[in-house]
Amino acid sequence: MSKGIVLYIEDNEQNFYLVNVLLKTKDYRVLWAHDGREGIDKALQSRPDLILLDIQLPIMDGYEVARRLRSNPELSKVPIIAVTSYAMSGDREKALSAGCNGYIEKPIDPDTFLAQIDKYSSGIDPAGNEK
Ligand code: MN
Repeated sequence: MSKGIVLYIEDNEQNFYLVNVLLKTKDYRVLWAHDGREGIDKALQSRPDLILLDIQLPIMDGYEVARRLRSNPELSKVPIIAVTSYAMSGDREKALSAGCNGYIEKPIDPDTFLAQIDKYSSGIDPAGNEK
C-alpha cells in the first residue's frame, strides 16, 4: 500500500533515480516532472502528499514554481521541500519566502534523506490521507 504520493520536480535524471529508490523503500509512490510547467500540471492531476522541488530548472526556476503552486488554492497546502545544491547565502530564505516549507541540500545523503522526508511528511498516514 502506498504511503503517499511524492512529486519530484527535477531535471537531473541521476538525482531523480536516487530519490526514487530511497522513497520506494518506504512505500512512497514517486512521480517525476522534468521542469516547472510539467510539475505544476502533474501536481494538479495527481494531488501529491509532498512535493520535492529542484531550484535550478529549465523554463522557470524553482522559486517561481513554488510561488505558482502556492497561488493555486487547490495546491496551497501541499508541503514543498526545496532540494538544491545552490546553497548560497540567502538561498534557503528565498526558498522559504517563495512558499517552500523546508530545504534539503544536494548532494542527497542517502543516510539522512529519509529522516528528513519523514519530518516533513509526518502529516500523512499510511493510506495517504491527511491526519
Ligand atoms: Mn536542476
